[in-house]
Amino acid sequence: MSTVATDIQKAVEDAAAHLYVWALKDIPQDLRDAIRDARERETSVPGQRVLDTIIRNVAIADDRTTLVCQDTGIAVYYCRVGEHFPLHPARIYEALYDGTERATVEHPLRSNTVHTLTRENTGQNVGYRVPIVHWDFVPDWDGLDVKCVPKGSGSENMSFLKMCVPADGVAGIKRFVLDSIVNAGGKPCPPGIVGVGIGGSADYAMHLAKEAIARPVGTRNPDPEVAKLEEELYGLLNETGIGPMGLGGDVTVLQCHIEHADTHMTLNPVAVNYQCWAARRASAHIAADGTVDFDREA
Ligand code: SF4
Repeated sequence: MSTVATDIQKAVEDAAAHLYVWALKDIPQDLRDAIRDARERETSVPGQRVLDTIIRNVAIADDRTTLVCQDTGIAVYYCRVGEHFPLHPARIYEALYDGTERATVEHPLRSNTVHTLTRENTGQNVGYRVPIVHWDFVPDWDGLDVKCVPKGSGSENMSFLKMCVPADGVAGIKRFVLDSIVNAGGKPCPPGIVGVGIGGSADYAMHLAKEAIARPVGTRNPDPEVAKLEEELYGLLNETGIGPMGLGGDVTVLQCHIEHADTHMTLNPVAVNYQCWAARRASAHIAADGTVDFDREA
């Protein structure tokens, strides 16, 4: 994008360029621990082999400083912008766009982004409305947090939405999540993180489901009712027997995370967004003076 970059805009662009590549290569420690725990729990031989292969895959990526998966995903960023951060969100978007493009050219990375009808490649993992950026605005703060979540298509294709009715209640939510994951089978490269969004509206429920997969593995929703449902679904999903890569076994999911919003009294939307075992994410905090701190675990 052609703009005159300020120092702070350059700092955000550099951070994005680093985050995109870093997330693709160096998965967070909580995810590594969850995969190791899964290997210890898994009793099926094919499932054990899959998890051993995943662990070896991650070790090779570490040794050779290369990507954990060939699918460089679609670049998704979550921004928390302080009200006093000295760069307007329009410029933050430009910086994220330019950083994504630069990372793709400089590494180089596989370029996945295409026009949705013509299927023509639009460039270096950027295009119309890509990267995808979600925004939160924080009062009384002058910082910026950016989390990069490159989202692979195998898992993103396993996204589902149902407009349950209120009479369906919590039982309807559970049934839909279970049906979704059973129907997905081995396609989203399990075991991964099942993100569930409940409440809000149709579009917001899916947004919440995506936000849920971007949390550190095993963190619980602060609402105790929602946290209870996370635990229950986590247990139920692992009773499906789908197992690693759908080959059967005890570990179908590493976790189930739920985000929720209040909703209309006649709505009960439920969205499911799957994140594969390569649940890549990396974050940076950018201070108002342009200082950047990277945090793989956030
Ligand atoms: S779903 Fe995940 S692990 Fe599977 S190919 Fe895509 S990015 Fe890789």
